[in-house]
Amino acid sequence: MSANASRVTIVGGGLAGLTAAIECAEAEAPVTLMEAHDAVGGRARSTEGPYKANLGPHAIYKDGGLWRWLAERDLLPPSAHAPLAGFRFRWEGAVRRMPPLGAVPSVLRLRGREAPVDESFRAWATRHTDGRTAAMLSAAAGVYTFHHDPGELSAAFVWPRNVRVFLTPPPAARYPIGGWSTLVAALARRAQDLGVDIQTGHSVDELPDRPVILAVELAQARRLLGDETLTWPSGNTVCLDLALRQRRGDPFIVCDLDEAGWVERFTAADSSLAPEGEELIQAQMPIRPAESADQACLRLEGLLDLSIPDWRARETWRRRLLMDGRTGALDMPGTSWQDRPAIDRGDGVYVAGDMMAAPGMLGEVAWASAAQASKLALQTARVTPLRPSRAA
Ligand SMILES: Cc1cc2nc3c(=O)[nH]c(=O)nc-3n(C[C@H](O)[C@H](O)[C@H](O)COP(=O)(O)OP(=O)(O)OC[C@H]3O[C@@H](n4cnc5c(N)ncnc54)[C@H](O)[C@@H]3O)c2cc1C
Repeated sequence: MSANASRVTIVGGGLAGLTAAIECAEAEAPVTLMEAHDAVGGRARSTEGPYKANLGPHAIYKDGGLWRWLAERDLLPPSAHAPLAGFRFRWEGAVRRMPPLGAVPSVLRLRGREAPVDESFRAWATRHTDGRTAAMLSAAAGVYTFHHDPGELSAAFVWPRNVRVFLTPPPAARYPIGGWSTLVAALARRAQDLGVDIQTGHSVDELPDRPVILAVELAQARRLLGDETLTWPSGNTVCLDLALRQRRGDPFIVCDLDEAGWVERFTAADSSLAPEGEELIQAQMPIRPAESADQACLRLEGLLDLSIPDWRARETWRRRLLMDGRTGALDMPGTSWQDRPAIDRGDGVYVAGDMMAAPGMLGEVAWASAAQASKLALQTARVTPLRPSRAA
């Protein structure tokens, strides 16, 4: 370790905290990571027991910086591709096997266009296509926005993500075999091998000595720093994890082009997620303003009724989660990732997480902000990084 380096303290052991711990320890800084829960992983944890349901993330994107960073360190867990069959689309009240092909020429008119920051996606897409196509493309964005009306978000936020997720073959999504806990375990092992002092069951109530990286959810960073400006829009969604007795013909994905919901049968990609003879599904429905979670859940069950008609009789396990403000940053018209809360809070305090000013999609933002926070914390600790970070 560098003789004159001060210790970097990291609060929170999710994807961001573990990334920061590895980045700082690779630069030979002494690092302590404090995690409130009795295990690291945060939202990237999977349930223990026979059903491996993730709390948050499912997909890692092979075309993103997080994937490259993991590959460089030989930390990528074995992962599954998305099956190429089993897609369904709810469109104008019915679940169909094909997307609305009539909209394809309109969608192609958007390809190659730069979407503006200042305009909503709906307004921009309607201007270049038509209201029906714009509504369909907006609702498709529910899968990564968890927002009841993705069309109201900035066009520059929605369109590049739609292109990345839906319109760039082959699909870049990969699913860690055994759930995200396998990735978390690899990250924690790497941090420990580098000498990081990981303290689980340690909830931090007061700001530790600097340099410190707060790799906690934005609401907790706001509380710890007493800084009411630490806010940014995020999604609000109800998630149902369901185990069903197996039956041939279940869809892999149901993309809800009416109400921005989504259903995904994760055992179609990785059968190890549920006991033999069972399927593991996660379905999500964004909650509308003034709607209760129960009402949104009823709409979600309605989507399931249309998609998997006998699902209720086959159910063997369920978990319902409300994810309010915990699904990553959403940029409204007039704002981009650069406008989100700054990572550098001054005086040797840095905040990392998926709501911060960093590029990428979903968990990639947590990773990229952690890499940037580490670079800054290392400067404060007077340690020079051994290799330049790709995320910075
Ligand atoms: C339903 C859903 C689906 C998602 N799907 C994807 C996906 O497919 N792909 C993707 O890349 N991302 C996805 N995401 C986003 C992804 O889950 C998050 O971006 C990522 O897990 C955030 O990691 P983090 O480290 O910033 O935060 P967290 O994982 O929330 O970690 C914060 C940690 O800090 C700890 N902590 C909090 N307060 C304290 C304290 N006072 N003291 C000590 N420790 C504390 C917590 O216990 C927690 O472990 C999804 C999220 C959700 C909710």
